[in-house]
Amino acid sequence: MNECDVLILGAGMSGLCMAAQLKRAGRTGFAVLEQSPGLGGTWWDNRYPGAHVDVPAPLYSFSFAPNPKWTRRFAAAPEIQAYMQDVAAREGLAPHLHFGVRVTRAVFDEGTARWRVETDDGTVWSARHFVCSTGPLSRPRLPAIAGIGSFAGRVLHSARWDAGFDAAGQRIGVIGTGSTASQLIPPLAEGAAQLTVFQRTANWVLPRLDRPYGTLDRTLARLPPYAAAVRAFWYAVLEWGRRGFDDGSVARRGMHRTAEALLRRQVPDAALRAKLRPPYPLGCKRLIYSNDYYRALVRPNVALVTDAIARITPAGVVTADGRAHALDVLVCATGFDVEHSMAHVDIVGRGGRRLADAWRDGPEAHRGLTVPGFPNLFLMLGPNTATGHTSTLLYIEPGVAWVLRALREAEHRGAATVEVRADAARAYNDRLQARLKDSVWSTCRSWYRADSGRNIALWPGFTREYVRALQRCRFEDYAFA
Ligand code: NAP
Repeated sequence: MNECDVLILGAGMSGLCMAAQLKRAGRTGFAVLEQSPGLGGTWWDNRYPGAHVDVPAPLYSFSFAPNPKWTRRFAAAPEIQAYMQDVAAREGLAPHLHFGVRVTRAVFDEGTARWRVETDDGTVWSARHFVCSTGPLSRPRLPAIAGIGSFAGRVLHSARWDAGFDAAGQRIGVIGTGSTASQLIPPLAEGAAQLTVFQRTANWVLPRLDRPYGTLDRTLARLPPYAAAVRAFWYAVLEWGRRGFDDGSVARRGMHRTAEALLRRQVPDAALRAKLRPPYPLGCKRLIYSNDYYRALVRPNVALVTDAIARITPAGVVTADGRAHALDVLVCATGFDVEHSMAHVDIVGRGGRRLADAWRDGPEAHRGLTVPGFPNLFLMLGPNTATGHTSTLLYIEPGVAWVLRALREAEHRGAATVEVRADAARAYNDRLQARLKDSVWSTCRSWYRADSGRNIALWPGFTREYVRALQRCRFEDYAFA
């Protein structure tokens, strides 16, 4: 049995941040288990053509590890992975990282107050604390469309891309029109003989204020005051964007006007424009930031199909109007199973209670971090910590800082366990759901919501609100034993 103080599941951004901060705090008794062969998490999985971050890169880097190497404002996936490698090297994390190891089960042992964590290679770990940093967008979801298994061509999910795939000369169908689809459609359209986009719901699209970072930018970015100013600027701009989700705000009016102007400028055909106007209020689903999505849709080799998919046959897709769309390749940009994002690990807490049972009606946690009945279990990017307006790293860092404080607090009190009180978690989630109920996010279907309609993903407020709540936490909602 391998022993450690903190076991981290997942080597994405949040696992990396947790590991780096543990190391910086002088806590070297930790290990990171990652099922993929390399570092990256979502950036390892999502290697489809065109993958890039949709917030400015100066804000998509850790505050403790600025990156003067970004080559453009909206960095592409390989650059982000390279950044993550850099951080891991700079922080000396290599000896702690274990790749190609899939965690299957984690059981809290009440006798020893430790987590017993089993993996698919038969190795067992014993850890005082268990940090799950797998994130909400880790389980790709194929659409449940009749006949999908019968398709004779290739089926590719965007998060399980084949790097060797060549679109040239192929008849490609793309199901989905979310953030992912908006990124992969333009490059695929360039090579494909024919690209058919199956749209169930049109989305709001805003321009991406992208630009390359030249030598001057990169030189200046090495100066800490300059880097801090750029970061502070983007923080303020994106935080202001949160107002865009509130009815009647200036930001919302500005976003509407900008979206409409982009659509008019890039799609001259009124009939196509009508198909691309979203049938739900702006912000309910994640906004798309793109300068080339609409442009790709007006190409002569691209067709936008809005009739519902009736079934998939060996030859392609048949839509509700009876039309058969012959395809060689079916690309599913159909997102992730967020509601069951942790279902691949059987997590068993106090009294033999399974997390899957505790979350039967959808995931919920106290401030996204802790769940009653699961002592010493910490979630990174847990329920209701996703953001629709800014960088997710701004939620990861305070979460990590809070976990470190909780560990110190437990030691200070001579406690073996820290566990959120059930009444506190209930009250927190009731307040959160009451706030979300009348928000824009309750007006449509999206990955933010469980099948029941409950919003399981989004933090409804400004970033600073979440950060302050964690910083001011005096652990009154926690039991130390
Ligand atoms: P998504 O937002 O959940 O979009 C899935 C798409 O597939 C939607 O258009 C959905 O239509 C469609 N779809 C699903 N099942 C379908 C079915 N059975 N038939 C027809 N259409 C179906 O997934 P995503 O685009 O992968 O994005 C998920 C999240 O990942 C984003 O919101 C974003 O937070 C993150 N992301 C970030 C970046 C970045 O920062 N670089 C890039 C990509 C993704 P409906 O809308 O009708 O449900």
